[in-house]
Amino acid sequence: MADYTKMWTELGLDLAGHDALLGVLGGAYTDIFLSQKNRPEGMKYFDFVMSEVHGLRIQELMDAKAQGRKVIGSYCVFVPEELILAVDGVSVGLCAGAEFNSEGAETVLPRNTCALIKSAFGFKLGRVCPYLEASNVVVGENTCDGKKKSYEMLAPMVKDLYVMDMPQMKSASGRTLLKEEYKRFAAKLEAVSGKKITIESLKKGIDTVNAKRAAVKRLTALRAADPAPISGLDALLINQVFFYDDPVRFTASVNTLCDELEERVKKRTGVFAAKTPRLLISGCPMAVPNWKLPMLIESSGAVIVGEESCVGERGARWITDAKSQTMDGLLDQLTDRYFNIDCAIFTPNPSRVAYVKDMAKKLGATGVIHYSLQFCQPYIMESGPVENDLEKSGIPTLRLETDYSQEDAGQLKTRIEAFVERLQKK
Ligand code: SF4
Ligand code: SF4
Repeated sequence: MADYTKMWTELGLDLAGHDALLGVLGGAYTDIFLSQKNRPEGMKYFDFVMSEVHGLRIQELMDAKAQGRKVIGSYCVFVPEELILAVDGVSVGLCAGAEFNSEGAETVLPRNTCALIKSAFGFKLGRVCPYLEASNVVVGENTCDGKKKSYEMLAPMVKDLYVMDMPQMKSASGRTLLKEEYKRFAAKLEAVSGKKITIESLKKGIDTVNAKRAAVKRLTALRAADPAPISGLDALLINQVFFYDDPVRFTASVNTLCDELEERVKKRTGVFAAKTPRLLISGCPMAVPNWKLPMLIESSGAVIVGEESCVGERGARWITDAKSQTMDGLLDQLTDRYFNIDCAIFTPNPSRVAYVKDMAKKLGATGVIHYSLQFCQPYIMESGPVENDLEKSGIPTLRLETDYSQEDAGQLKTRIEAFVERLQKK
């Protein structure tokens, strides 16, 4: 990586803390990703993106800002990238997946806050996230209680925090609220960018994001093959890069990789042997660089073939039907697309478990690992009913609760290995 010290200094990063973070991440990436066998050639692009995730990509964001474009950071898949693109903005994900400066985070948050929120605060207070520091606007959303209340603490720490209200039920009034919030967000984007959203610019934004999601859906479908043409770790990495990279370049790179994977499927070339136990992960999002659980699973004799998660299927599954010729109609279609997302903050939320079963069938998974971050009430609450339903349907399920630390790695591995053994005996 080139020397980006000047850029990081201008962004106000704490250089010593930032160096320490990059050092740990670089080492983890080499150990976890680069040591894998039989990786597709197309992963080289994603290795490059990761090697420059705090370098070249941030330089691109700074160049975009110099041209008058706005960088919009967000924490949730309910924030529509389509609207951001419609004002020629750049959308970046801010969710953080590493344990960093937890002590700092715990000076403003209760200890029993999930690792994802704590990590976001640890990054902010430690001044180590160039995406957050480069954002003109940070968008929060009233999803779970943890996020909702933590934005009150985040507001004085960032330049412009914009909070979106969120429905909690899939009712007609819930949908009306979501549409109104998207209208209000569109107005906010127009105000900060000085650009008007037109039917053409919104359609273009929708097409760009649809193409990105279609490429990820193509990747998902290819993972149904046995032997699996790509590891779960690499597929997760692609789903993580989804939130940072330039959308057009990302789409082209995923499609190039999928061309290669199609060839692999034809030749029955896999990353693991055929008949390796196949697992789905379902639950909380795994923000970059949260690779702990997939690494433990894929080093325990199983392959991950899908992620029922916002960093995965829940983020990419639906495509927006952008046929309307009116602004209101397009906003309706956008709302319809996002209102499908079956996050555990909704009550009741029956479509989620129904889809996990569907995914398991389509992808040939013989077991599900339900993953919750400690203190994440929505997903932990849902995990019991999800497990019962899946087990009743004949899908063995293992419920795990963890955080970003490595302290429980040994214990988790023992439980995962026992679960894989159960699948092998089945
Ligand atoms: S799990 Fe829920 S709150 Fe979190 S990113 Fe997904 S939709 Fe948003
Ligand atoms: S992991 Fe759970 S508690 Fe944490 S932000 Fe997401 S929904 Fe909220």
